[in-house]
Order: sequence, then C-alpha cells, then structure tokens
Amino acid sequence: MENQKSGISIGKRKSGFLLFITSLLVLLFFILIFLSRNNHQFQDRIFKAALKQRVQLPRADLGGEKNLDIVFCGSGSPFPDPINKRGQPCLAVFAKNHFFLFDAGSNSAVKLAIYRLPLQKLSQVFFTHLHSDHFSGLGEVRLLTWLQGKKSALKVLGPNGTKRTVEAYKEAYFIDSTFRIAHHGADFLNPSGTTYQTQEIQFSKEEKSKIVFEDGPLKITAFLVDHSPITHAFGYRVDFGDRSLTISGDSIKHPNIIKFSKNADVLVHEALNPMMVKGLEKRFNEIGNKLAAKLMGDILDYHTSPLEAAETANEAKAELLVLTHIVPPLPNALVERIFLRKASKIRKKDTILAFDGLHLRLPLGKKTILKGDFRP
Ligand SMILES: [Zn+2]
Ligand SMILES: [Zn+2]
Repeated sequence: MENQKSGISIGKRKSGFLLFITSLLVLLFFILIFLSRNNHQFQDRIFKAALKQRVQLPRADLGGEKNLDIVFCGSGSPFPDPINKRGQPCLAVFAKNHFFLFDAGSNSAVKLAIYRLPLQKLSQVFFTHLHSDHFSGLGEVRLLTWLQGKKSALKVLGPNGTKRTVEAYKEAYFIDSTFRIAHHGADFLNPSGTTYQTQEIQFSKEEKSKIVFEDGPLKITAFLVDHSPITHAFGYRVDFGDRSLTISGDSIKHPNIIKFSKNADVLVHEALNPMMVKGLEKRFNEIGNKLAAKLMGDILDYHTSPLEAAETANEAKAELLVLTHIVPPLPNALVERIFLRKASKIRKKDTILAFDGLHLRLPLGKKTILKGDFRP
C-alpha cells in the first residue's frame, strides 16, 4: 500500500514537472515572438547573426590538384518548376585552378552565387547548343564574374552561332557596364571584365569529336550528338587524371554518348519521360490549348527517355548516372518514381536525379564519388 502511494505521488510530481517545463517553453516561445516583432535591439542581433551566416567568402576548396568537383547549378529545363525549383541547364566543373561552366540557362548566376561558387575564377563557358535555355543566363553570369573581381574577358566556346549570340549579350550590357564603371571606378571594376573571348568549335565532315581544352592531365573533348533539327549540338567529356565526367547535352540516345562515356565515373544525361509528356499533350488538348499540345508533341522526338539514358550508361559501363534537364518537372517523390519506373528496371542502382545544389566530388587516385548538397 505504502509503495503504491509513493508510486502515485512520484508519478504526480513527474507530470507536474513536465507541465511546468512545457508552460515555460510556451511562455519563452511567445516572449521570443514578441521580442522579434517589437524589440529593435533583439531584431538587430538576429540580423547580425544572419549576416554572419549568410555572407561568407566564396568556396576555396573546389578543384585543385586532387579533386574533380561537379556542381549542378541548373538541373531542369525550359519548363517552370515552382516546387523543386530545378533551373535551366547549368553545370559547374572544377579541376586544377580551372572553373568551367557547361551551359548557362536563366537563373544560373543566382544559383552560382547562392552556392558560393568562386565566380571571379570562372575560366570558360562551354555551350552544348544554342537553344535559349542553355545560354539565356550568360549576361548575368558575366556580370557577376565582373562584380566579383574578374579582370579579364570571359571565354565562351560553343557551336556555330556562338559569336553572334555572345556579341548580342555584349551589346545588351554595354550601357549597364558604363554606368557601373562611372559609379564605382575602373580601378575596382576593370573594363576588361565586361568583355568576352569567343570561339566557335568547328567540325569537318569526317570529325565526330575534338579536344577543345588541355592542361596537363586535364582534357575536355567535344563530341557531336543528335538534337535535330538543331545543327551542331555537342556533348562533352572531361578527363582529369584517372577520373572522368561525360555530359550528354540535349540529344536523342546516341552512339557517340555511349562511346564518350565509356567507363566514365559520372554520366550526366538529359532525360524526358515520353509517357508523362504525352499525358501533358493530351491534357492540353482537352483544355483547348492547341499550341502547348503541339509543343509537347514536338519535343518528344529530340530527347532521351530515362530508360534510354539508363541503357546508355549500362552499355558504356558508366559508374554513376545522373539524370538532368528533367522534363517534365517532378513535384514529389511519387512522380519521381513514375519518372524513373522503366529505368529502374534495367539499372537497379547508381542512378540519381540531379537537383540544383548537388555536389559530386571525385578524388583522384580513388574510385569514390562523394555526394554533397550546397543548398543553404
Ligand atoms: Zn535543346
Ligand atoms: Zn534544353
């Protein structure tokens, strides 16, 4: 009896204590809300703490002699993606003291800044082809490299037509550049940082590939893919020592992609799910949007399905397949599973969907692929 009584009183004391702590926490919570809404000193302290956390120097540990680093700064397509926020194509690659960008769709510059990539070190931009979703962020990228201290022309390599496109960007930003130089001074904003150095990659009729960059153990090869009716569409392979990365660009399933991703550590391949796009086409027809329905029908013939991308990776014996340029946008995990349904059947593992902020590190002399997330 005694024991039972003391057991009950301990239980009562325990629940009383819990009630006291909970009430204290609730009270504290409301005090914090009150202070954050009304107390200027409190607000300023929060602001200072946030500044410290948000404003930091760009990352200095990417690339170098020991790593091939890859950062996805745009893993979507021209489709707006309000939920997963996959932006238009943009892939940052770091090796040695180089920082390369493969494509620069709209919003690339914002993503590069958010992930604290060292924009002033951007060496070259490579275009896969001249669909606007692959270059429409170029002006903003160049602007940010300049505002972060780049003092030389930005090199841009791409297919026929690149010069014309880049010249137009130069002209579009000319007045903006004069305003900024007048305001901040040429000592801080070197006018050379407003310029471009453009090179068009030409292929003879017999050529299917070409080395477009070489620096010791680092080599970049451009190869032809098929994105007809777009002429001159390229994929790229990056080799750095014993590590490698292949980028498909926009293309149908293509033997050159298989050839140039042979034993690659990472194959970054575009992917469009035909079943889903046909579903969109049907839906647009139902609601009477004939133009959107026509566009959906048309894009089916010049992209690669996730299944075909998985076949390519398997045939090439590529280690990790990363699907990017994802069409249509995927709002949740269920739709992601539908997107990958057929691919998963023939490639059980080592296939992932890219997301903006995904970081892959390939240390030289090892087999590992380290995955990280640069989203703040
Ligand atoms: Zn395209
Ligand atoms: Zn595209």
